[in-house]
Amino acid sequence: MDYIPPITLPYGKEYHLFLSFCNEDEEIAFPLLMELEEKYRLKCLYHIRDFIPGVSVTENILNGIEKSMKIVYLISQKFKENFMCKEEILYGITASHKQCENSMIPFLLEKIDMPRELQSINYVDATLEGIDVTKKIYEVCVFGATSNCILPNVIPFQELCNGTILRVFKRSQTWKWGIPVIRFSEDKEMRKNISDEDRSRKIDQLCRLLLEDLNSSIFTTRYFMHSSEFSYRAAGLFLLGLPSFAVLPLLLYLIIVRTITEETLIGLCCTLVGVPVIAVCIAYGVAWYRNLNQDGGDLETITWKYLTDNYQTLKILLLLRSTKEVVVLNYDTEECKKFCIFALKRKMIDEDEIEREAEKMVLDFIDGNRRALADWSGLPEFKYNRHNTYAQKKCICQCLESKLF
Ligand SMILES: [Zn+2]
Repeated sequence: MDYIPPITLPYGKEYHLFLSFCNEDEEIAFPLLMELEEKYRLKCLYHIRDFIPGVSVTENILNGIEKSMKIVYLISQKFKENFMCKEEILYGITASHKQCENSMIPFLLEKIDMPRELQSINYVDATLEGIDVTKKIYEVCVFGATSNCILPNVIPFQELCNGTILRVFKRSQTWKWGIPVIRFSEDKEMRKNISDEDRSRKIDQLCRLLLEDLNSSIFTTRYFMHSSEFSYRAAGLFLLGLPSFAVLPLLLYLIIVRTITEETLIGLCCTLVGVPVIAVCIAYGVAWYRNLNQDGGDLETITWKYLTDNYQTLKILLLLRSTKEVVVLNYDTEECKKFCIFALKRKMIDEDEIEREAEKMVLDFIDGNRRALADWSGLPEFKYNRHNTYAQKKCICQCLESKLF
């Protein structure tokens, strides 16, 4: 048999597994316990053997779950009907939230529906043939929370979830003396009221400053340089204007000299045709080039600075959707950061370093996915919702899971 390395217990834990089952299933639970303990050297809390006499059952369960890395639930019809077993599921959910990671491993013994609370978690199906169930349990203990087995969807519904749009600022355009003038202003219809008045006021204050900066940016003040529409108009002006300017000297010449040779006439005709053609080519070229450069780099710089200065205190993400729109999203990155810290503790020791690394990971993700976050629909979807994100999209820590584990 291959050497199976024992798993070191994390700080504060005394057992690898808490076995949750009803007494009717003891015949299945006991052999499982033996194999887990002997073959995989996993320390299991087996209530019939390990509960402390003289202490209430509830306290025994709570202590046991708290001291265990994972809880294995042996799900059968009898288990579903048992009051204490139901309690053990609820305690497992609480424990998972405390340690920011799913610690529950459902184990289906019969072909029945999973208890509602466990339905969003991947389970080990012991009814299927050819499955090495103990090996699966061991692997969960080694690799911890993997992307298909983390937290169940037990976060209560909140009106303002991560990703909800709070404010939208749109660009509007007017023409002044034939030159396009743009301004950013808030789209009041898209405004979402926030019940926390203090926070709402602070966000509005911030938005006022942002608007001032956006409206005095180089992109805004020199917008005509980026406007292809303006370039086309200028081209039109050249097209119509230049021939008439070219015709004027010709008329003057004819009036003064009154005689005209064939060569001069040909030369003048060439000028009449050639000048506008060249002018149009130049104007279209300029328009095309301006259009290419319509990236609003300084708008990006402004919004990014506001985001990094305020995302932690105001729990918002301020993002440039396109050069036409800036959105303010409700987003509490603190929760995702906490999860990153928890995961990084498996690899790093220094607490300050972990904190810095977690913060960097979150901010780097936002930086690398600014457009996707601003559009929101561009983010990947997922079946469970760890941090209550809008439209069932993955939250930041879920997107970072592959890097964390
Ligand atoms: Zn998250």
